[in-house]
Amino acid sequence: MHESSAQSSNLSELNGVGPALAAKLERLDVYSIDDLLFLLPIRYEDRTQLVPLGALTVGERCLVTGEVLLAETAYRGRRNLLVRIADGTGQLTLRFFYFSRSQQAQFKPGVRVTCFGEARKGSGGLEMIHPEYRLLRGDQDAAINDSLTAIYPATEGVQQGRLRNLTDQALNRMRQAPPEELLPEDVRSELGMPPLAEAIQYLHRPPPDADTALLIAGRHPCQQRLAFEELLAHYLSLRKVRALTRSESAPRLDGTRDEVETFVAGLPFKLTNAQQRVADEILADFGAGHPMMRLIQGDVGSGKTVVAAIACLQAISNGVQAAIMAPTELLAEQHWRTFSDWFRPLGLEPAWLSGSQRAAARRESLEAIASGTAQLVVGTHALFQEGVSFAKLGLVVIDEQHRFGVHQRMALRDKGVGSLGQPHQLVMTATPIPRTLAMAAYADLDTSIIDELPPGRQPVTTVALPETRRDEIVARVRAACEAGQQAYWVCPLIEESEVLDYQAAEASYAMLTEALPDIRVGLVHGRMRPAEKERGMQAFKEGLIQLLVATTVIEVGVDVPNATLMIVENAERMGLAQLHQLRGRVGRGAGQSHCVLVYKPPLGQLAKSRLAVLRETNDGFVVAQRDLELRGPGELLGTRQTGLPEYRVADLVRDSELMPKVLRVASELERRDPSQTEALVRRWCAGIERYGKV
Ligand code: ADP
Ligand code: MG
Repeated sequence: MHESSAQSSNLSELNGVGPALAAKLERLDVYSIDDLLFLLPIRYEDRTQLVPLGALTVGERCLVTGEVLLAETAYRGRRNLLVRIADGTGQLTLRFFYFSRSQQAQFKPGVRVTCFGEARKGSGGLEMIHPEYRLLRGDQDAAINDSLTAIYPATEGVQQGRLRNLTDQALNRMRQAPPEELLPEDVRSELGMPPLAEAIQYLHRPPPDADTALLIAGRHPCQQRLAFEELLAHYLSLRKVRALTRSESAPRLDGTRDEVETFVAGLPFKLTNAQQRVADEILADFGAGHPMMRLIQGDVGSGKTVVAAIACLQAISNGVQAAIMAPTELLAEQHWRTFSDWFRPLGLEPAWLSGSQRAAARRESLEAIASGTAQLVVGTHALFQEGVSFAKLGLVVIDEQHRFGVHQRMALRDKGVGSLGQPHQLVMTATPIPRTLAMAAYADLDTSIIDELPPGRQPVTTVALPETRRDEIVARVRAACEAGQQAYWVCPLIEESEVLDYQAAEASYAMLTEALPDIRVGLVHGRMRPAEKERGMQAFKEGLIQLLVATTVIEVGVDVPNATLMIVENAERMGLAQLHQLRGRVGRGAGQSHCVLVYKPPLGQLAKSRLAVLRETNDGFVVAQRDLELRGPGELLGTRQTGLPEYRVADLVRDSELMPKVLRVASELERRDPSQTEALVRRWCAGIERYGKV
């Protein structure tokens, strides 16, 4: 909504809004009067009735009134002001920890006071701690509201009262000039949803008889109506991105397949049916003349890399450059090594580009990329920064897609070259996401699923053990290593602090080297220089190290088939998806593998259920579905990191059952009235729209 300055200027038409307040409102994503209408309360308070003191119940937030019986200070660690009030039906104590002398003096016996707060159990009956209160003069009545009181999301320096006043003004204007109704009447009535203006009015100022429980759960028809519209708008915007992609041209890469066939024939394994199917889907896309935008979903270890290699090779042998981007240096380096090994026999040497590269090496890579002598480039985000220009980029592969959002995907297209058209894009994710979520999040992509693991893999058995049984766990590590196998010991991520991370890893490393003098133990953590990390990983891969102590830097992609034991410390603090990823580091060879989730007791109920999910299933889709139910989509998708939209009203878990309807109505609207769909997208996702208009 921040796109149009014409729109943002109209906030100043409201009484009391100057530049300073306007700036604060922007922090709530409010840029216009219409935005205020869509700034919905996060909860409600009931000040529509006075609750008799005798009818108060613990935990209830309510409005009461009474006459002061006595006010006194008491000392309980610090000074408290206690004011006892009564209304003929019962008594209540008001307790203040912070108070002024004059405040204390106000509460004279016989004075009437009205308060709003939560009733709690105190030492001498019910009490309210620091209630909002007002003294009533003479026979003045307590002010009773005629609608539930909206509580808005807080932002520094904008008080609730101010937000209520502004939304009052916006609602008044709305009654004169309601926002355009963008859902057709027949669609609304079929879904049983109220008109827009009615829903907005209701949600800002619900009547006293409103079902607050329903409202707080976000399941009131008025909320569902707005959530539906928002999901619809986001979905439509992704569809527009997709339609736009389809209308652009891209190099046709449907010439010779000889190299691909030679490559596949030379692999030490046979492709699984799923790999073959997905490779065929990609090769079919390559011939279409417009950019492929394809997502490959495949559980950890399902063999996505070789499919990417096939795509790259097909691109290269049809005369364009291919680029592979991974989210971490470690993973990028591993791809670089894998691709070098695979492609060297074909006379192909991949170039390398990363942020930490030395200047001279970087310059050399940049030149090779710009001149086109580098046919394949592997790297990190550095690949798509300014100053990197490709001679003839035809294919971009992004590994571990869940860290990239639609914005980044769109930005990549700009690396394409005019005469060739846009590059094809292949994104790969090991975080399978539930279907309804995928519909909402990846509607701009075609999806392929590798739903089969290479043959011979045995499911990893998973147990959860308290850290008090550390000796037992160490003994397991010893036994595995003595049997010629290898093990990982993963230390927790501490508050995103690399320093603490590293210290935790160092401590475990010290403990393990002492406990296991005959085992070769190595250490890899996020603070090491890439070359050092690389050396550590490489030594592990070659079997020189038997036990690798690591921070979660090894989370994605690392491939050592001889490793059969995964120990994860402080597992209770990690996300399910992340644990599933870590577990995916073992079970890559033919041997039976094990995963030990070590936790610090006592375990909370939620942590217990989460660890249970991992014990019960090895299926990434099931893990993802349970993760979604237990945690919510923001964390699952990593919304903040990915740039996926933050929904204002909708909640992908709560509202997931709306998605099938959203899909149906979207196609209906696109057919019936494209201008309406544009208005919807403008209303709800101006930010994304910008990318659709490159
Ligand atoms: P992911 O999908 O997690 O990225 P990888 O591509 O790293 O998985 O593959 C995991 C391991 O499986 C690698 O060692 C790879 O060489 C091996 N692999 C891939 N495809 C097959 C196959 N069809 N048969 C046997 N092993 C395979
Ligand atoms: Mg991978």
